[in-house]
Amino acid sequence: MSDHYERVKIELQQMKEEEAEAAADEEQLSPAAVPSIPAEVAFMARRDLSRSSINGRSRSKSRSKGDGHERQVNVKELADLTAQKSNSSQGQSRVSNDPNLHIKGTARLLKAKTAANGHVESCPRHTDGKCEHHGKEGESKASKKRRAVTVDTSKAKTSLEALKMSIRQLKWKEFPIGRRAACDIYWHGVSFHDNENIVSGQVNKFPGMIEMLRKINLSRAVRTMQELFPEEYNFYPRSWILPEEYQLFSTQIRLLKDSDSTLKPTYIVKPDSGSQGDGIYLIRDPADLRVISGAQIKQAVVQDYIQKPLLIDKLKFDIRLYVLVRSLEPLEIYIAKEGLSRFCTEPYQEPSQKNLSHVFMHLTNYSLNVHSGNFVHSDSCSTGSKRTFSSILYRLASKGVDIKKVWSDIIALVIKTVIALVPELKVYYQADIPPGKPGPTCFQILGFDILLMKNLKPILLEVNANPSMRIEHEHEVSPGVFEYVPSPVDEEVKVGVIRDTLRLMDPAQRKQHTTSNTGGGSPEEAIVVETGSDEKEGMADSLPSLCLKQVFPKYTKQFHYLRIVERIAAIFLRFLGVKGTMRLGPTSFRTFIRNCKLSNSSFSMASADILYIDITRRWAGMLPDSREAGMCLQAFIEAFFYLAARRFKALPLREQVLSLLEVCEGALEGQSHSEKPRTHRSHTNPNPASSQTSAPTTFSSPALTRRRHRPLQLSAKANTEN
Ligand code: ADP
Repeated sequence: MSDHYERVKIELQQMKEEEAEAAADEEQLSPAAVPSIPAEVAFMARRDLSRSSINGRSRSKSRSKGDGHERQVNVKELADLTAQKSNSSQGQSRVSNDPNLHIKGTARLLKAKTAANGHVESCPRHTDGKCEHHGKEGESKASKKRRAVTVDTSKAKTSLEALKMSIRQLKWKEFPIGRRAACDIYWHGVSFHDNENIVSGQVNKFPGMIEMLRKINLSRAVRTMQELFPEEYNFYPRSWILPEEYQLFSTQIRLLKDSDSTLKPTYIVKPDSGSQGDGIYLIRDPADLRVISGAQIKQAVVQDYIQKPLLIDKLKFDIRLYVLVRSLEPLEIYIAKEGLSRFCTEPYQEPSQKNLSHVFMHLTNYSLNVHSGNFVHSDSCSTGSKRTFSSILYRLASKGVDIKKVWSDIIALVIKTVIALVPELKVYYQADIPPGKPGPTCFQILGFDILLMKNLKPILLEVNANPSMRIEHEHEVSPGVFEYVPSPVDEEVKVGVIRDTLRLMDPAQRKQHTTSNTGGGSPEEAIVVETGSDEKEGMADSLPSLCLKQVFPKYTKQFHYLRIVERIAAIFLRFLGVKGTMRLGPTSFRTFIRNCKLSNSSFSMASADILYIDITRRWAGMLPDSREAGMCLQAFIEAFFYLAARRFKALPLREQVLSLLEVCEGALEGQSHSEKPRTHRSHTNPNPASSQTSAPTTFSSPALTRRRHRPLQLSAKANTEN
């Protein structure tokens, strides 16, 4: 019996090894591995038809067969179009002829895109089988040897189409129904927890990102930074959290109106868990708040309404920018050089009592405006209700606007926002992927929604954890019958973002990156926006240059001083203990006070207990959904600010906090020296050398003993295009 068991075990092992080898050798997915071949065929057909959309045609979703002929025709049309396009661009002045400003590395390289898609065999082959571009048999020795990077796409949901296209361009290997062996990359459609059983590789979602980017949590995180750095964080509108700040909101508005009766400010109310403009409305008086009229008090954010946005063609618009957080530790941020601009469909007028309810005038959400009769679907990237951001910049540049300044302000906004989010993200990360335990590393594409004011100042509206990566839009041809129409603008932008995110997460590339870059990069004084030269970062040859630009740690020098809250979070994590919780218990808080030597004759341990109870109770009321008891990071930050203010009364808040940090870090460092050295895996980035650039997280948090699978407290947000 035991012999039999042993034999089965060995056979199983052999099968696994064979499977792994076969997987490594295969260039394409084998039919056996992909039972969804029809979907592949449908996908190819869809792709071809997306090309046909360039000629103004569209296709019903139900047509998945019999497109072979059409496909050839379309491929030819595309080749012609490509040739025409490249010919016509030769020798012409970029500014005078191209409606799109070439921001380097965008995905707008039709020729390269076509070739890399794998849909069009554009490499001319000689009779001996050599290809002009790729040498013998069209492959270099190096690429033959290199194992294709494996991507599990089984949970990709609405990103699937763009993801498949990206994987093809990279000639990587897709596992559409998952894989028994580990994959290099797991692409999730919603959250880190889409698949709970990942112990290695990289996942495209961070634990806690959905929670952190809910409107209330984002407002809280930014507000903490606004307290410390009011000037630096004035890109986020003044916000009140409802219902807890209803009184404060009412009082402040009344005082404002009393001070000047001609003032007629407008406010925008956004439900906490809403997206795509759902439930959003404008008010001019606190009495009009709908959140308090029903029996149930809904959680929401109410915000100053930006009354003077920049208009183009008399329409309000916003910008969706894609931002890659490649790693939390060290912090690495990339911004896509191309984004989308979503337009309102009714000419803008400053808010008045009459037009407050005109959503097509005030809200730029795609999901709302697409239902307006005025919505224009366009095949051009520079016209219609959804355009590329570069086409907007081109328009502005032609009017003499300093678009480099606009870009650098946007980059600063993005870096500062991510810096505000990082402390709490680290708490989530440690709870889910404790140091020393097997687990994947994470990265994530975020969707930043930004409004440009008339004076060109960028304003942060919100950040989406799951920006829509759809490259088709739904069109209802008759009641209940939908057609999926390719959207060239979406494809243009989104495929580039996904493909280049994958390139940056390529395990081989990451290794190269982390060994050649100790994380510090070459921090620059000023943000320099290049619009011409290529940024290849040692990437694979035949692909377009990266459409993602590294902004951090590149600009570390300029922004590092903002990372104060991260240092408070490091102390919080240290005392969180080994229970896998995200809340500090009373004993741990006492230990913090004692170890940091914060108690003295005027602040006893009893006072520390009272402080703990006081603050924790209040925060428990503010976080009604929470199932965990104890002190959350935001509450700890509040306690820290309080202790800092007590101890360093004479100083301004920021100096108070910095002074207390020094006291705490000094005391804890002394204790760390006397502690036994612990092995601590940098679980947000496998490269220990690169921790040089991380925030001064002086203390490694204790390894947690068990893995926590916290149920999602929130209903996952839909992928949001807005
Ligand atoms: P959602 O997640 O529901 O899309 P947003 O915060 O993005 O919520 O707001 C929806 C739209 O409302 C934005 O796209 C923008 O057009 C408009 N908007 C949001 N906040 C403001 C603001 N403070 N001032 C002016 N317009 C705003």
